[in-house]
Amino acid sequence: MLQAHVVVKAMTELDKRLLEILACPVCHAEVRQEGDRIVCSGCGRRYPIRDGLPIMLIDEAELPQPGDEEAKTQSQQT
Ligand SMILES: [Zn+2]
Repeated sequence: MLQAHVVVKAMTELDKRLLEILACPVCHAEVRQEGDRIVCSGCGRRYPIRDGLPIMLIDEAELPQPGDEEAKTQSQQT
């Protein structure tokens, strides 16, 4: 019997259709998956994924780190 080579991915891949119906409970913006997190495109909150299920709870959300993404735009110095 042929055995298929299954690539075990470190990341949990969520169904795209699931991602499409998910929305941030805080600002109701679209969300996307980044690694093992669901990231809100609006407020930047990050929600964990546990057992393949996104935990869309405000209490579980990580707030965006200040300076995490802003650092890229801080190219100008006075
Ligand atoms: Zn949000």
